[in-house]
Amino acid sequence: MYTALHLQRQLKAEMRSGAVEVVVVAPDPYMTYQPFLPEAAAGNISPRHVVVPLRRVLDHCRIVIGEVITLDHAKRTATVETLASEEEDAGPLELTYDELVLAPGSISRALPIPGLVDYGIGFKTVEEAIGLRNHVIEQMDIASSTRDPAIRDAALTFVFVGGGYAGVEALGELEDMARYTARYYHNIKPEDLKWVLVEASDRILPEVGEELGRYTVRELRARNIDVRLETRLESCVDRVAVLSDGSRFPTRTVVWTAGVKPAPVLAATDLPLNARGRLTCTPHLTVEGVEHAWAAGDAAAVPDVTASEPGRECAPNAQHAVRQAKVLADNLVASLRGRPLRPYAHKYAGSVASLGLHKGVAHVYGRKLKGYPAWFMHRAYHLSRVPTFNRKARVMAEWTLAGLFKREIVSLGSLEHPRAEFELAAGPPPPPPDTAVTADSSPDAHDTDDESGTRDARDTRDTKGPGGQGGAHGPHASGPATD
Ligand SMILES: Cc1cc2nc3c(=O)[nH]c(=O)nc-3n(C[C@H](O)[C@H](O)[C@H](O)COP(=O)(O)OP(=O)(O)OC[C@H]3O[C@@H](n4cnc5c(N)ncnc54)[C@H](O)[C@@H]3O)c2cc1C
Repeated sequence: MYTALHLQRQLKAEMRSGAVEVVVVAPDPYMTYQPFLPEAAAGNISPRHVVVPLRRVLDHCRIVIGEVITLDHAKRTATVETLASEEEDAGPLELTYDELVLAPGSISRALPIPGLVDYGIGFKTVEEAIGLRNHVIEQMDIASSTRDPAIRDAALTFVFVGGGYAGVEALGELEDMARYTARYYHNIKPEDLKWVLVEASDRILPEVGEELGRYTVRELRARNIDVRLETRLESCVDRVAVLSDGSRFPTRTVVWTAGVKPAPVLAATDLPLNARGRLTCTPHLTVEGVEHAWAAGDAAAVPDVTASEPGRECAPNAQHAVRQAKVLADNLVASLRGRPLRPYAHKYAGSVASLGLHKGVAHVYGRKLKGYPAWFMHRAYHLSRVPTFNRKARVMAEWTLAGLFKREIVSLGSLEHPRAEFELAAGPPPPPPDTAVTADSSPDAHDTDDESGTRDARDTRDTKGPGGQGGAHGPHASGPATD
């Protein structure tokens, strides 16, 4: 989005005259500002303000909502699966181009851990962040209403795997939100909630440096969060998280944020990839050894020309992605106009991380901050970075209002199943015409069995929330019987 935005600004005249067309292919009609996902999960920012509508921002570009499935750069052709092409018989769309900008980012790197695919919850998209918020509040509702102590314990146990930005911030914000929310439950105290952070290495938040990483561990432990370093998740079969130190946590919530890997589309191209599957790039953000191909962001292995040791790549983070996008657009325009390209050089400025409302850590330009000042810096920095004035104003307004009123504690899990209520009202589908009439299906049985119809309809929405563990009113909200 940022590259297209800069191209749109710099090639305005050419785009108006029709000499240049910029086509943006994306699976969603919006760009997600991922660093705000933890705040969205905590309810501090509404989901709509974490995303930027592509059609509004890129009003001179052609937007194609779809997914590139293969890319034949030698033939300058991208094959795109769109919502419509799934329904038509004509097959995927073929787009031809002159210049390619490839920035598909990364996806969660799931390991072959038993049970993880069935129960793990990711934290990369706005849907996952909001789904997780709803799920956590639903678990509190289950714990509050169940008569079974084992169900209550599992519902109130939350396991996060991966101590990078995403894991630590998501855990910090959600724990803070749940702690606050607990005051509105007559039978749940904040101490009843068990939060576990599992990290394979000996430190968390490597982005903020060793000292602040250690401070973050102390800070989280002081909040009664069980931080386990040098520990791995070994299994989550049957909703029991088994760790490499032998401990076992029955839980309905395993959030997986243990790293990312490049988007799968990269493997379906004829472009060069490095050992980690990222596109091999030059400092000018062109793809190495290939003409008319450019790349940036998490998917691109761009040499870090500011690093003292040779061979280092820019880390996959928003700080680089957003800056690379601008240099990429400048270079692409320069190449079209026959001007020299400039290398991408950005010395890592440091990092900020939020650990909940008024809590944070920051290491920026050599200065280390903790607590409220770090949290304030986190907000100020990301507000300055979130694209468009419109979004900045809306986020600012939300924060200001949140400061004046009490926090939102509502779970709108039913939004994930908007047809559930209508299905319930409509009752179970009629039996197929050739079904033999049995005693149960007699008109009398139907008339008197209003409850069973209700139960059937309820079961249809008892499907998937985040990671298959949530539900309209929660798979488990209908009580222990559905467990
Ligand atoms: C919870 C969380 C918190 C974070 N916090 C920070 C932070 O505080 N600071 C920081 O610097 N970084 C942070 N990051 C990392 C940062 O968000 C990423 O490094 C950054 O978004 C990478 O940008 P990108 O453009 O390369 O990829 P993305 O932002 O992932 O964008 C890639 C886009 O390409 C689309 N796409 C993928 N495949 C295809 C395809 N086949 N066809 C078409 N489109 C496709 C995707 O749908 C997506 O829209 C955080 C990440 C997460 C998940």
